[in-house]
Order: sequence, then C-alpha cells, then structure tokens
Amino acid sequence: MTSNPNSLAARDVASLIHPYTNLEKHKEAGPTIIAQGDGVYVHDDSGKRYLEGMAGLWSTSLGFSEKRLVEAAVRQMEKLPTYHIFNGRSTEPSIELAEALLKIAPKSLSKVLFANSGSEANDQAAKLVWFYNNALGRPEKKRIIGRHRGYHGITVFSGSLTGLAHNHVDWDLPMGPVLRTDCPSHYLYGEPGETEAQFTDRLVKNLEDLILREGPETIGAFIAEPVNGAGGVIVPPKDYFPRIQAVLRKYEILMIADEVICGFGRTGQMFGCDTFGIEPDIMTVAKALSSAYLPISATLISAPIAEAITAHAGKLGNFAHGFTYAGHPVSSAVALETLKIYEERDIIGHVAEVSAHFQAKLRSFLDHPLVGEARGVGLIGALQLVTDKASRTVLPAAAGIGALIQNAAMEKGLIVRASPDAVYFCPPLIITRAQVDELFAVVAEVLDIGLAEAQ
Ligand code: PLP
Repeated sequence: MTSNPNSLAARDVASLIHPYTNLEKHKEAGPTIIAQGDGVYVHDDSGKRYLEGMAGLWSTSLGFSEKRLVEAAVRQMEKLPTYHIFNGRSTEPSIELAEALLKIAPKSLSKVLFANSGSEANDQAAKLVWFYNNALGRPEKKRIIGRHRGYHGITVFSGSLTGLAHNHVDWDLPMGPVLRTDCPSHYLYGEPGETEAQFTDRLVKNLEDLILREGPETIGAFIAEPVNGAGGVIVPPKDYFPRIQAVLRKYEILMIADEVICGFGRTGQMFGCDTFGIEPDIMTVAKALSSAYLPISATLISAPIAEAITAHAGKLGNFAHGFTYAGHPVSSAVALETLKIYEERDIIGHVAEVSAHFQAKLRSFLDHPLVGEARGVGLIGALQLVTDKASRTVLPAAAGIGALIQNAAMEKGLIVRASPDAVYFCPPLIITRAQVDELFAVVAEVLDIGLAEAQ
C-alpha cells in the first residue's frame, strides 16, 4: 500500500472497518477502490477493469450502468424524495411495487411488508411467525429451524438463523429460539454408496425426527434458501423441497423461503420457489429486487398470516412494527423500474438461454484435477475443490488455495468469490455468452495456478 497518508487507500485504512475482511491484513494490503461501473464490468481507481463474476454481492442483476434505474431514482427524488408508510400513510411507488411483487410471486403469497436489507427481511419474517402464533393463541409455537450452512444475514436473529460457524464464534450467537437441521449437499454429506434419493430420505427423516423430539407444538417455521449462496452454492436434490414441505405441513410449521439471492431470475425462473417446487408461507427478497442500486427488501406473507396478524393488530390497537425506510419511495421507484426491465427485456428468457452455456462451461471443469464437483443452476454455480476426487476430500483451509485463486483471478481482471475449498460464480443476469467464455477462460488459468500450489 502507498505511504501517502492523503491517498484514498491510506484514508480508508485510517477510517473504515470493512465487513467480511481480515482487518489486520487490511492494514497492510489496503483496499481495492472501485470507482466506476460499466455493464458487467467495474473499474478500480487505477482504471483497471474487472468482469464482476459475483454481480457485487450476488445482487447487481442488471449490471453497473443501467441508466433507466438512475432516471427512475432522479424522477422520484424530484417529486417526493422521502416519505414513510407508518400510521396509514402511503406513497404511489410503494403501492405499485407491492402490487408488482404480488403479481410475480408464488400464488400462496398475498401481502407485502418492506424493509431495507436481506437481514431485516428475515428478522421481520421471524417476528411475523411469533406474532402470528401469538395471534392464534399458540405462544409455544415459536422456534425456527434453520439449516447448517444456511445464510440469512447477520442481525442478532437473522445471524442466529444463519448456520455458519464464523458468523457465530465470538459474536455470542446463535441467540433465541433456533433449531438446526441438515445441509442438502449430497456431494459433501452423502454417505459412501448412498444415492441421492436415499440421501433425501435420510434428510427428510432427520427433519421429522427433530420435530418430534423437540415437539411440533414448539416449532413455528423452517427457513431455507432454495440454493444456499454464501454457505457454498448448494443445489438441493430434485425432490428435496416438496418432501421437506410435506413434513412441515403435517406439523403446521410455516415454510420461509429466503429468496434474497435466488429471487428474480437467478435460478432460471422468477423465483427459486418456482425452480424447486416450494410453496412458501413467507418469502423474503432483497438484492436483485432493485438490482442492488438502492437498499430495499421485502417480506411477502400468505393470506392466512395476513388475516391473523391484521385481526391481532386490531385487538392490540396497533401493528407495532416497521422500519423508518420501509417502502421508501425512491428505493421503491427504482425497484419498480427494475421489475419493469426484467419483464420488458425478458430477463428470465435470457437467463434460460445463457445459463445452458454457463452451466456447460462450469461442468467442463470436472476434468480438472482440483475439481471434485461442479454444481449450479441458472446463473449461479460453484466448483468444489478437492485433494482427492475418489474420497471427496475437500481442500484443507490451511492450504490457502481458495484465497490464492481469488487473488489470481483479481489480478487477471475477474472478480469471483472463493471459500477455502470452493470457487463461486454469480454474474449479472445480463451477461452474454461471450462474457461467460471470458469469465471461464480466466477460471481455467487460475485453477492451474491453484493446482501448482496444491501439488
Ligand atoms: N439471505 C441471503 C440468502 C443472503 O445471501 C444474504 C446476503 O448475502 C442475506 C440474507 C442478508 O442480506 P443483507 O446482507 O442485505 O442483510
């Protein structure tokens, strides 16, 4: 890092604590300052261009220079830059966005609550489960089942629903009424000789055993991402969700679908729920809702939940919940324009087309000595890095190969995310076939660099 104390890099180190960053190392390494965006590319402050293979944080679906979103924000800023929806007030963009969401959402959903982030939307979902069961006179039915490797955010309760150790260790989490069940990766957690169908049977049985052991009367909901994102891009077996949902229904346990990454075309259909046969009672969305241009998220709820909480709020005299910026008119206007663009440009059709090529390219790396599994659906995927393909032994964290691959890709102008034992891809939905080729050409080079280091 430069020694000039007035450089942006030095000022960054002096003033900022960065999310998900090794803060000690950052003092030496300094930041990569992203200065500009252009379609699927971003440029750093030295002018170097990167293909953004993660769409930022799995979020910038329409790329980094969509003028219509800028114009929608400016129009709304000029008309009504801010207002709230407390106390029965409302704004046109928040009404129109709620309607537009319900038009494309799974049929089981009937009302929308807004928030600002994925974590808030999931916190809100949990609070609604509690309020709903209090409304029904079932004060015991409060625990929520999350899954190992699930990622639902980092607030006190969404962080508790998250099933990743690094989000818990020394953060005094999990906290509150949380139970945990299996991660549905057959590759990583299937027993030797166990078929995918047998694996699903085992997970369904484990869930039912957990429910019976803990008492169905104490369990209010189950939360899952259709495809786990941050926990490893885990694509579940085909009939996993319908079978899990049959168990949940048997015990009147609500299904919360966390669509914060999967929502709006990522999996090749509008929602991961559509791709995986989920009929959610509650669904949370964020990120691609506004192509991440402004913070906005939403929690969608079924008619029975909406009716019960409405009646209960009537009884209490108030629905005492809501964020200042829920339904913010500028964020809502940008989200509404985002949904219009998805429809007008047939983004789902584009994903269906380009993802066949993306997934084929991804799977072509199965020949690489370092790659044990290539998994994905639509425009999300991962390469599982192993030291031994036959025994499915994943790369040890201490080897540092994931970080090496991520850094080598960055040097070559590609942003991807790597865990110690996997590399993830989640490009903007507008990526072209040629850009998919460009992305994977760099991946081929950096996997070889990783292999050389691993040997
Ligand atoms: N849920 C999922 C599936 C996510 O991937 C994320 C963030 O990556 C969140 C929730 C949390 O969203 P936020 O970071 O906006 O709070």
